Amino acid sequence: MKTTLRHYTVEEILEGFVFNELEGKGLFGLGGKLVIQPEYQRYYIYGDGKRDVAVIDSLLKGYPLGLIYFNVNGSSLEVLDGQQRITSVGRFVRGKFAIQVDGNEQTYGSLPQNSKDLIRTSELLVYECEGTESEIKEWFRTINIVGLPLTDQELLNSIYSGPFITAAKEEFSNSNNANLQKWSSYVRGDPRRQEVLAVALEWVAGAQDITIDAYLAAHRNDRHAKELKTYFTSVIDWVDSIFTVIYKEMRGLEWGRLYEEYHTTTYKASSLTKAVEDLMNDESVDNKRGIFEYLLSGKSKTELLAVRLFDEKTKKAAYNRQTADAEKTGKSNCSVCKSVKNANQTRIYKINEMEADHVTAWSKGGQSDLSNCEMLCIPHNRAKGNR
Ligand SMILES: [Zn+2]
Repeated sequence: MKTTLRHYTVEEILEGFVFNELEGKGLFGLGGKLVIQPEYQRYYIYGDGKRDVAVIDSLLKGYPLGLIYFNVNGSSLEVLDGQQRITSVGRFVRGKFAIQVDGNEQTYGSLPQNSKDLIRTSELLVYECEGTESEIKEWFRTINIVGLPLTDQELLNSIYSGPFITAAKEEFSNSNNANLQKWSSYVRGDPRRQEVLAVALEWVAGAQDITIDAYLAAHRNDRHAKELKTYFTSVIDWVDSIFTVIYKEMRGLEWGRLYEEYHTTTYKASSLTKAVEDLMNDESVDNKRGIFEYLLSGKSKTELLAVRLFDEKTKKAAYNRQTADAEKTGKSNCSVCKSVKNANQTRIYKINEMEADHVTAWSKGGQSDLSNCEMLCIPHNRAKGNR
């Protein structure tokens, strides 16, 4: 890869700069030769009245803005790194936002001439890189490790940029998509940072037992993203049809995997709804997010619920009860040790040598209270396993 260090002034870079309000990105510079925000880059996110202002403050103090990288693409240039900074300066110079100077709000137009000149003539250090696509992309990965990191999906979008990514973003990264509201009940993340797209890809790739990278590589040149959309919609519609009440705990679950595992099983929505409600109200269920898969699994995966164990007070009471009884009868205070012939049949365990067990298993309706609590020596409790 060939790199050339160049010096540009802010004025040169911003020649022909346009900020597209609709798409939220800065478009061109260097008289049209420079593409500031290529398709694969993220939206302009510095426009928060802090980071954009900080860029202008730096210029006015004469601080360097840091290295900027362009990719040489035939006769045009694309910003690989630095588009947030360039767009901030461009928007300021076009009067899109103001800064505070000595307590007064100032736009570019209202600044004194020497300040304007300072910004206009500030030098930007730019590395122009020329190389094969894979070299540029590998290196783009590297420079993004420092500075404001891209999300994984933003990186993938840059690596696999093409018609498929464009079509997929139209569906999953479009904040005007009317489906987003419904999706947000089940999927966590910011569509503008490609996090919904990441979930959609994870699901479809998971269903085909391949990595997201492999899926993107295979579909990179597709002109549409139909399969991705169809699969994502199937998963969402399935969840929506079996769990009729929405809980916040449903957000961000692995619905793609659950769909693959359970969508061929028949469920009765009305009884599932009731079962979810009961478990949500059950205080001994510690992991409410586990409820959905627990029910899908036909209540076989009890461990998903992290059913709360007996509290210390209950354990102590059960221990005292069993130990008093054991001292009277001269047998062990472990209910199992005392009833089978073994070396520990008369052993009195200390409380820290014992664990609490549900007499009637929680999954069979047993409560986590004293009436259902039995202390067992550790080996016997472990031997009983998770009932
Ligand atoms: Zn025992």
